[in-house]
Amino acid sequence: MTTDVRELVATSSRILAAAGHGDLIWGHASIRDAEGKGMWIKSAEWGLDEVTPERVHLVDPDGVVLSGDGQRHSEYPIHTEIMAARPDVGAVVHTHPPHAVALAATGQPLLPVSHAANYFVPPAVTRFTDTADLVLTSELGRAVATTLGAARAVFLVNHGIVAVGATLQSATVAAVLLERACAQQLLTHTGGGWPTWSPPEESLAKREHIYNDRAVAAVWDYLVRTLPDGTD
Ligand SMILES: [Zn+2]
Repeated sequence: MTTDVRELVATSSRILAAAGHGDLIWGHASIRDAEGKGMWIKSAEWGLDEVTPERVHLVDPDGVVLSGDGQRHSEYPIHTEIMAARPDVGAVVHTHPPHAVALAATGQPLLPVSHAANYFVPPAVTRFTDTADLVLTSELGRAVATTLGAARAVFLVNHGIVAVGATLQSATVAAVLLERACAQQLLTHTGGGWPTWSPPEESLAKREHIYNDRAVAAVWDYLVRTLPDGTD
């Protein structure tokens, strides 16, 4: 069981790296511990593409490493405080994907100019602006959780994104889709003209037609199948 959780965090991390979420050694994904001890997260000083099960450890809500090796990520309160605020959340992804960071920094809202943004919009993806510095305290972690609300993603403006899910599989797919949606919107803006996007009713219909639970699970399977081999 413990090994499976570590393997899943490692697989998610490598998928995120392959999907353009890598930022050198920064960014992390976590799974809530089934026994309520905290969450399983990669240790610091490794790139997302380098995460192996041995580089995943168990961190409690106070930031104490209970099991496993390595240095703890300083932004652990993002994970622990969202999990405390959201019993429905079993996994949290926090990364610094370039297109999402760029779009959020423009101040423009995410718009469903292609399929991917319909996974989130409506409602508007909220923007955490209390600080663009690291989320190092429980207070800031709780503030991120408050800004996230009941949604599946939030922009940490001038910093990164957070995506959540009942499972790490769904949280990972959400993070991948958010970055793709932001890239598509930035590309749209480069084309000039008169951009169009889906109205809310159509977005909700597309969410059900394209991103239902079965499809999201299939996307995860696809991402695993197409993951580059090995971490050496
Ligand atoms: Zn960060």
